[in-house]
Amino acid sequence: MTTKPPYDILFEPVQIGPVTAPNRFYQVPHCNGFGHLRPKGLAAMRGIKAEGGWGVVCTEEVEIHPTAEISPAVEGRIWDDLDIPSHRLMTDAVHEHGALAGIELVHNGLHAPNRISRLPPMAPSATPVDSSDPVQARAMDLADIRNLRRWHRDAALRAKNAGYDIVYAYAGHSMSTLMHFMQPRYNQRSDEYGGSLENRVRLTREVISEIKDAVGDSCGVAFRFAVDELMGANGLSIDGEAQDIVGLLAELPDLWDVNVSGWSNDSATARFEPNEGYQESYTAFVKSMTSKPVVGVGRFTSPDAMVSQIRRGVLDLIGAARPSIADPFLPAKIREDRIEAIRECIGCNICVSGDNLNVPIRCTQNPTMGEEWRRGWHPEKIAARASDAPVLVVGGGPAGLECALQLTKRGHKVTLAEATSALGGRSLLESRLPGLASYARVKEYREGLLRTMADAEIYLESPLDAHAILDFGFPHIFLATGSSWRRDGTGRANHRPIPGLDKLPVLTPDDVLAGKHPTSGRVAVFDDDHYYLGGVIAERLAESGCEVTLVTPALSVSAWSDFTLEQDKIITRLLEKNVALTVRRNITKVSDSGLELACMHTGRREEISADALVLVTARNANQGLQQSLAAQSEAMATAGIETLQPVGDCLAPGTIANAVYQGHLAARNFLGEAWDAALFRREMAALG
Ligand code: ADP
Ligand code: SF4
Repeated sequence: MTTKPPYDILFEPVQIGPVTAPNRFYQVPHCNGFGHLRPKGLAAMRGIKAEGGWGVVCTEEVEIHPTAEISPAVEGRIWDDLDIPSHRLMTDAVHEHGALAGIELVHNGLHAPNRISRLPPMAPSATPVDSSDPVQARAMDLADIRNLRRWHRDAALRAKNAGYDIVYAYAGHSMSTLMHFMQPRYNQRSDEYGGSLENRVRLTREVISEIKDAVGDSCGVAFRFAVDELMGANGLSIDGEAQDIVGLLAELPDLWDVNVSGWSNDSATARFEPNEGYQESYTAFVKSMTSKPVVGVGRFTSPDAMVSQIRRGVLDLIGAARPSIADPFLPAKIREDRIEAIRECIGCNICVSGDNLNVPIRCTQNPTMGEEWRRGWHPEKIAARASDAPVLVVGGGPAGLECALQLTKRGHKVTLAEATSALGGRSLLESRLPGLASYARVKEYREGLLRTMADAEIYLESPLDAHAILDFGFPHIFLATGSSWRRDGTGRANHRPIPGLDKLPVLTPDDVLAGKHPTSGRVAVFDDDHYYLGGVIAERLAESGCEVTLVTPALSVSAWSDFTLEQDKIITRLLEKNVALTVRRNITKVSDSGLELACMHTGRREEISADALVLVTARNANQGLQQSLAAQSEAMATAGIETLQPVGDCLAPGTIANAVYQGHLAARNFLGEAWDAALFRREMAALG
């Protein structure tokens, strides 16, 4: 199929050294929590991207030697020939669909505490490792540098042997020895590898050249370089040395893969970088300095933005990690002129949390991500229905929408009833909070498709009770009625209601999301949830004119958001909005003038004044409907109700990603095996 203008340009081939990318869609290296431990899951995930039209599909960072390994993070490994068969699984899966496979070789240097290998970390100069491990890296001598070059060369040869078409040298995210040598703050050497910029770039030049010598006859050699660390004069920056570095190496690699550093800047969430193509102002200069193709990133999901960057000479290849995770079939949908079917990334970084927690990748928008091998899920295909029976889904939040969409795709006639005047549930409500507008995409994608499907009927303003459901007589019912925030303060830190809550106006996130919150006065936000909501509500209240104190029993503010690379930015933003931050405090009682807090360590008491209190503690699953129906088993039988299944937050409150996943799982399993029988395949260590 030929693609019509203006998007045809996206499907032009691009020469990368001796290999040719079939189009301009380039899945840049991204971590995923499969790594060397779960090669089958990894290969299936990468293969699906190739099937979906990505012309180049790369690995995550792949460790080349045990002198730099970042376990328990599960990255790729190519330490010796034993690793080759695992990589073959991936390259075969990618080649099957005509795409190129790329491998990002890495020596993590001072980023690697070497918890498995227990070898001393290595760095340009002696310095503590950049994790909190009580370990320091030793300064590399010239023999170490020669070894490092050899390890890269050997790894490149293994990569070629494993079937890769593109081999990377990597100097990004402040996570690689090559980058550490370039960064003056880490390189305080006085030999030929330190001091002048030419000297600090020497190692990278040697490594790229030697990879080219080793495999450049048949593999494209890419260089991934972070042009700006977003820390001004304290780091590499485009106003400092970055342009000179690009100038020094301009024609050496076959491909420039450019981004910004650290990882939280590169993979910035939509809350902090709302715009598509947000890296353009940093990366655009590279193309003017090299004749080699350039790939750049910026959470691209719209083909118009992609075409614009190519036409304006910003880049040659559309780099994507998250957009390819949210929609592995993004290129195919553009090619087939099905733009409305693109499942746009919402920029939440739940995908990153999987890697940070050392478990396989997951995605808010794409519940099949990470499940390609172990559950056999395909992002675009689902088994046809096993019965003609119509289905009622009650509740149009993330869980209900996903469940209804997949059931309709399976061929069922689906009726979706939503109590309020709009679909989306919490994804819609939370999208009104500062920086979370993209969360509405969870609803927009699903509602958009459902509205085009003849077998889906949507009823808004239709709060259903047990009576109505019994009257309808649908044989199969999914309840996706969500959850409600508790108003009594119980949660993680408090297992009994907080005393004195009648003394002060008390609000929950549901109130704030409904727009019912003060716009002046002193408000305390008690965050015992620890993800983003407490922080973003504090931000909203501060913006509205309140004097806000955020109190949390946790060690730090919005603690879990560290896994989504947001915590640092959240704290900065709250401080900028003059939100007072109080950690490791629980509320012991509430009075009409404020709160009595207790230190979580010493129990010491203190008082803070407040005119109102927002409790972000825990949620109650909305199970009333289920309980009411379950109590009427005879009436259910008479009404012909065969199955009744709660999904999403009304079963167990969690993230939006979890609700979407549960909705999807329920639709896949519908009338199939019992959920506790239909588990997933596991990758087992081979014994003997
Ligand atoms: P989840 O994340 O599990 O999808 P949400 O709270 O986001 O949960 O969404 C639940 C949705 O269900 C909300 O839009 C809510 O209005 C709707 N809902 C709750 N109870 C009923 C009901 N009895 N009838 C119809 N819709 C309901
Ligand atoms: Fe995008 Fe969130 Fe999915 Fe990651 S988890 S790809 S940020 S939607």
